Amino acid sequence: MACAAVPSEDGSEYVLDGVKLWTTNGVIAELVVVMAVVPSRGLDEKGRKTGGITAFVVEADSAGITVEHRNKFMGLRGIENGVTRFHQVRVPAANRLGREGQGLKIALTTLNTGRLSIPAMAAGAAKWSLKIAREWSNARTQWGHPVGQHEAVGKKLAFLAATTFALEAVFELSAALADAGMKDVRIEAALAKLWSSEMSYKCADELVQIRGGRGYETAESLAARGERAVPAEQLLRDLRINRIFEGSTEIMHLLIAREAVDAHLAAAGDLASTTATLQQKGKAAMAASGFYARWLPQLMVGKGLDPRSYNEFGSLAKHLRYVERESRKLARQTFYGMGRWQGKLEYKQAFLGRIVDIGAELFAIAACCSRAEMLRLNDPAEGRSALKLADAFAAQSRLRVEALFNELWHNTDDSDKSLSEELQAGDFVWLEQGIIDVSEGTGPWIADATPGPSEHENLHRKYR
Ligand SMILES: Cc1cc2nc3c(=O)[nH]c(=O)nc-3n(C[C@H](O)[C@H](O)[C@H](O)COP(=O)(O)OP(=O)(O)OC[C@H]3O[C@@H](n4cnc5c(N)ncnc54)[C@H](O)[C@@H]3O)c2cc1C
Repeated sequence: MACAAVPSEDGSEYVLDGVKLWTTNGVIAELVVVMAVVPSRGLDEKGRKTGGITAFVVEADSAGITVEHRNKFMGLRGIENGVTRFHQVRVPAANRLGREGQGLKIALTTLNTGRLSIPAMAAGAAKWSLKIAREWSNARTQWGHPVGQHEAVGKKLAFLAATTFALEAVFELSAALADAGMKDVRIEAALAKLWSSEMSYKCADELVQIRGGRGYETAESLAARGERAVPAEQLLRDLRINRIFEGSTEIMHLLIAREAVDAHLAAAGDLASTTATLQQKGKAAMAASGFYARWLPQLMVGKGLDPRSYNEFGSLAKHLRYVERESRKLARQTFYGMGRWQGKLEYKQAFLGRIVDIGAELFAIAACCSRAEMLRLNDPAEGRSALKLADAFAAQSRLRVEALFNELWHNTDDSDKSLSEELQAGDFVWLEQGIIDVSEGTGPWIADATPGPSEHENLHRKYR
């Protein structure tokens, strides 16, 4: 957070200084919401803390705002995203959103529902991938058969169909929870964003593969030589960013894992601390044993063990029982991880990433069963077809879940850590020899973003 907002003496306005990178729509927006750090001035007249990260609504044509550059990307070529500089920009105090210090909360709360736009795009992208893949697989004949009839391609089609159904189910469920006013959709929105961005990218990748050379060719080039203008490579490029922005996959893993682990850290108290004395640990162990004496038995038995449970879901009941059983297993494995690494668990990112990925798959299976049942109730014919897709998805997803559970304890995490440390220390620089680094000498890794007047063009004025 490199932007600062300093209040004027009479408190009627703030002066903004700083540079913001990657401001989506910043190039053309008339109003921008800016988060900036206000310096602390102790307590206000009501005894509340002043200062901290604060949100402001700022008119983009205010004096001192320069859009210096329009960024260009691998995909999303239509996006108006730039570098926006604020130099001594005067913002009326009335334009502050909430109180001083509430900016981060406002930003993160907005992200919860904002993140759901990605699962929506992901579901749409998968539907289009499925359509093109199906039509093309019938149209293209190789070795005497339409390519879809070759098993290698057929399996991709089955993955696309099942995953598209699941992507829509996950999105619809998460969005319905948000629309229903569920107070805290943090976990659902985060899981939906994480899982959808990864799976829709896989769908687009499979589409490119099924299209063969034409998958790699641009729509413009295809059209220029008289073929249907299918922008499969564009879809892949456009979807790639979803794994990075609105919370990268790595950060989403940590954010979601923290929700699971925090309960344990709170229960364990000093037991998980690396600095606590033996006496403190002993005391904490007594307190934790009370918590776990109640908590652990709940994880041993549950509805998933009863073969009659969830029978209202017909043949999908077995998948819901599986979700229930594996959810308890997931909680137990998290607990074992806690026992093994204690307070250091938060640094076991690979372990936590797998825990979260299992949770996301289980969430997707449950969403599929629920959506298939809803569709059946609305239209029995469509319901039968949906049931087939939900069943297929659950079967595919269960294989991923099993593999992830296995990898929790059988993996190369320790040797990878050591290899990565040696790599970063420069031990394998010899391996990089024999190439030309085209980026070498072209500039610093990160540009200087020191506040000050702009020396660049104001793209914002140019656009308007
Ligand atoms: C097209 C586009 C539009 C954007 N629009 C906006 C916008 O409108 N507003 C806005 O504020 N931002 C915007 N961004 C910025 C975007 O949100 C960030 O790029 C994104 O959050 C990742 O941050 P970073 O680039 O600084 O990556 P870095 O933080 O530099 O991360 C580099 C790598 O390290 C990983 N990593 C980082 N920290 C950890 C950690 N603690 N543990 C494990 N792994 C870690 C990351 O996942 C990533 O793989 C946009 C970016 C792009 C490309």
